[in-house]
Amino acid sequence: MGKILEISELGHPILRQRASEVENLRDKDVQNFIDDLIETCIDSNGVGIAAPQVYKSERIFIISSRPNARYPNAPELGPVAMINPAITSFSEEKEKDWEGCLSIPGIRGLVPRHKTIKVKYQTRDGVLVENEFSDFIARIFQHELDHLNGIVFLDRIDSNKELVTEKEYYKIISEGNRP
Ligand code: ZN
Repeated sequence: MGKILEISELGHPILRQRASEVENLRDKDVQNFIDDLIETCIDSNGVGIAAPQVYKSERIFIISSRPNARYPNAPELGPVAMINPAITSFSEEKEKDWEGCLSIPGIRGLVPRHKTIKVKYQTRDGVLVENEFSDFIARIFQHELDHLNGIVFLDRIDSNKELVTEKEYYKIISEGNRP
């Protein structure tokens, strides 16, 4: 299986670059990299991870969704690799909810995201998939796609007052309150 890769953190310029399209998906080194990215996602308990978060500026991310405290109805999905992903249309309706990021440890923020999105991407076998996601998966997809465009969730929040530390975040969600 894959190996665990080092995670880049806020301040490294690779997180602020537009990642390149993947054109050599069949190559062994790309396939090995996808295995490594999946392994790293599982190891870090992430619900998603994008290639720039392991110092590789390519348009690949992993989504790994399962039910959790905030999204008890989140579907089990993945870990699945999405390559050259794009949003083709989206609902006007947005929802705010908490996000964190492996590259921004210790911080959580309330991030507005489109509730429903239509997307396309290639699977690791090169098959072009069109799909519709809503709620938690739509949120992960938007967060990870942002990483491929040099955007982090801090750029999306409405107010710095909607940023909290992880310690206070756990208190807030256990009390069911928001700042
Ligand atoms: Zn992130």
